[in-house]
Amino acid sequence: MISITTDTFSIIGVHRDEMNPDPSHPEIKLITITIETPDGQLPPAKVGIPDIPMRLTHLVPPMQRLCSGVVGLAIRREVNRGATLSCRKGCGVCCCQLVPLSPPEAFFLLDYCRTLPLEQRKQIEERFRAVREAMEAKGLVERLKIIEDTKEHKILARDYFQMGMPCPFLEDNSCSIHPQRPFACREYNVISPAELCCDPLNNGVKAIPIPKNMTTATARLAAELFGVSPMLVPMTAALEWAAEHEGLGRRTWPGVWLFNRMMEYATGTNLDNLDKGGSPAVE
Ligand code: SF4
Repeated sequence: MISITTDTFSIIGVHRDEMNPDPSHPEIKLITITIETPDGQLPPAKVGIPDIPMRLTHLVPPMQRLCSGVVGLAIRREVNRGATLSCRKGCGVCCCQLVPLSPPEAFFLLDYCRTLPLEQRKQIEERFRAVREAMEAKGLVERLKIIEDTKEHKILARDYFQMGMPCPFLEDNSCSIHPQRPFACREYNVISPAELCCDPLNNGVKAIPIPKNMTTATARLAAELFGVSPMLVPMTAALEWAAEHEGLGRRTWPGVWLFNRMMEYATGTNLDNLDKGGSPAVE
């Protein structure tokens, strides 16, 4: 059991269960993590990490669970202070916004779409095509290949929202990939009146502040491993971008090392003292 404290998060327990209880999966390392956030402690999470070469996309499901846990505590904090959450199932107004994805999430969504039955996959690809055509008509495709934190990009994001094109995964005003939705969608929870969401940039929509942005953390890890600057991919370009960069998406790193490195970015904690389960050899 190891305790490390940082300004933002504390990993108060990282315990490796070397005695794997499941002999049919000898390659899985069970790691139990307890995390203290500024909004309270998350329940201990048991994560099974294969001690084999892993792709970045394999990190996305456990990080989605962590993200939802952190967001859940932040929502509880605001509700305890008297705020009301305006987000409801069937309200997909924010799904016309430009959703930023970290590169591992773009690879994850491409993998996910490839597992869908052919008809469903074609339908989704068709919606991606429709969004692209609408963006082409506005001259936004090239300018929004990636998302940057600049004034110009904020204006582009507003132009994009004004097109009123829903996310390709929105069906009947509900998210059709709710369990797999991106970090940015999990982290966006509005406590100002819902009617303001029709023009979020001009109406001063109030979203719940989240202590750690998982999109950025994952993008930073990807940047380190790919040897490039951190970048975010718009949802609208996710499948195309991931297919174009498939070589990067297929690269692997030792699973336990990769998971620990992700945890460092996600929590701001230096895990140098821990056994990282192998060297960071790239394959
Ligand atoms: S992934 Fe789901 S929640 Fe996120 S923008 Fe698309 S439809 Fe909305």
